[in-house]
Order: sequence, then structure tokens, then C-alpha cells
Amino acid sequence: AKKVVIKIGTTSISNDCGGLNEEFMKHVASQIAYLHSLGKEVILVSSGSIGVGIDLMQLGCKPREIPVRQAAAAVGQNILMQKWMEAFSTYDLNVAQILLTYDSFTSRLTYLNLRNSISTLLEYGVIPIINENDSTCVHEIEATLGDNDRLSAMVASKMEADLLILLSDIDGLYDKNPKRHRDAVLLKTVSEITPTIESYGGSPSSTKGTGGMRTKIDAAKICNMAGCHMVIANSSIQNAILKIMEGEEIGTLFL
Ligand code: ADP
Repeated sequence: AKKVVIKIGTTSISNDCGGLNEEFMKHVASQIAYLHSLGKEVILVSSGSIGVGIDLMQLGCKPREIPVRQAAAAVGQNILMQKWMEAFSTYDLNVAQILLTYDSFTSRLTYLNLRNSISTLLEYGVIPIINENDSTCVHEIEATLGDNDRLSAMVASKMEADLLILLSDIDGLYDKNPKRHRDAVLLKTVSEITPTIESYGGSPSSTKGTGGMRTKIDAAKICNMAGCHMVIANSSIQNAILKIMEGEEIGTLFL
């Protein structure tokens, strides 16, 4: 893969009460820097702003009200970017913040502008770091939706990426929620998203993340239509990104 989009889920980037896992961020930056040195084009989609904001504003764990979460996102996004900037500065790489809403994709003009600016950043060797603009957009913030899964698939599709990597707190897609069923079986490869596969995407058990598997399966559909492969893998695996790029079979690969 030459162009790759990497999405870091809330569960991977934050600790239990929302604070950032900076060691993990540094590890991601080191892998991306290595890919960059090989001439790969990498776009990062990073969740985590809401948790950081909640932490800073001392709102306690997991407030549910949407306006409060939007306020927290606005507070947290700066810190999130600051930490990414620090992590990448070790490798002399610049980062750019891009905040998107779904409307960014629906109008041809905004979409073309978006594509031009991301392409230009890549040309200049900058790492674009995308997040949903949670302050103006309620889609993904709502507990039943998103967490950047579909957004990252739309970015991968519009940027004509070869691969989307979703890093999560789970090894991949199982035939049922492994946190609730001990006998759940991990799927290594999914070549077609059948109704059976879709039925595996139950609601998330984690309270930090919001999307669960349903939105990841939706993301796989978007990728599939765009001819982009997708991998779901566990962010706790050492060098997970590099292993996936080298074709090692970790996680679930959606063809
Ligand atoms: P992220 O923040 O990385 O997007 P989510 O919490 O939104 O993570 O989604 C991952 C969670 O989805 C897993 O921790 C697991 O509890 C849940 N889940 C539900 N059904 C499945 C399944 N069939 N296979 C794997 N995980 C599942």
C-alpha cells in the first residue's frame, strides 16, 4: 500500500477517564515516521478530544449530554493536537489539523477543496491529522453512532487510499462480542459483507468508545465500494501498523 489512512479509536488513545496515552501516541508517531521515510503517504484520523476535555474540565467520567461533550471536544482538541505535534517533532515531521463534518463530503466544492488541501499537505511531507468537528456536528458524538469509523472510511475513499487501518482495543471482528462471549471466534478475512457479517456488529460494551463494530462494518462497506482494503487490529500489539503494512496477518482484513 502506498497511501494509507490510520484511525486511532478512543479506546486506544485514552485511559479510563479520558486522559491521553502519550506513550501510545509516541509509538504511533514512530511507526508513521518510518512509513514516511519509505515514501508512504499517511493520513491519521485521531479520536480522543472529548476525553481530554472531560479530564481537563474535571467533568468526572463520561458525561452524556451532547452540549457538554461538544464543549469538552473543543477544549480537548487543542491538547490532542499539541501532543501529536510533540510526538511527531521527534522525527522532524510537521502535523496539520483538519476538522471535518459529513457536509465536507456532500458538496462537490468542499470535497474538492478538502482533497486538494490534504494532497498538498502530503506533497509537503506534512502528516494530516483529521478528527470530526464535534463542536458543530452531532453525528459521531451521539452514543449510538460513530467515533470516526465512517469518517475515516470516507477520507480513505475520497483520497483514494489503498488501505484503512482501524486500531481498536480488540483483535478484530469476532462472530459475537468477545467481551461478552468466551466462545467468540476471530474472523481473519472478510471478503464480502453479508447480512451474517453485519449481524456480528452488536452494540459496543466499552463506555469510552462509541462506535463498536457496527460502525466499523459500515466503514468496511464504504472502503469496499472505493476499492480500498481495511484492517481492524489491536492497538496494543507492538508495531501493529508496520506489521499490517508488511502483510503480517494480524486482526481482521476486509478485502
Ligand atoms: P474504538 O474506540 O476503538 O472505535 P469501540 O469501543 O467503539 O472501539 O469498539 C470496539 C468494541 O466493540 C470492542 O471492545 C467490543 O467490546 C465491541 N464489540 C461488539 N461486537 C463485537 C464483535 N463482534 N467483535 C469484536 N468486538 C465487538
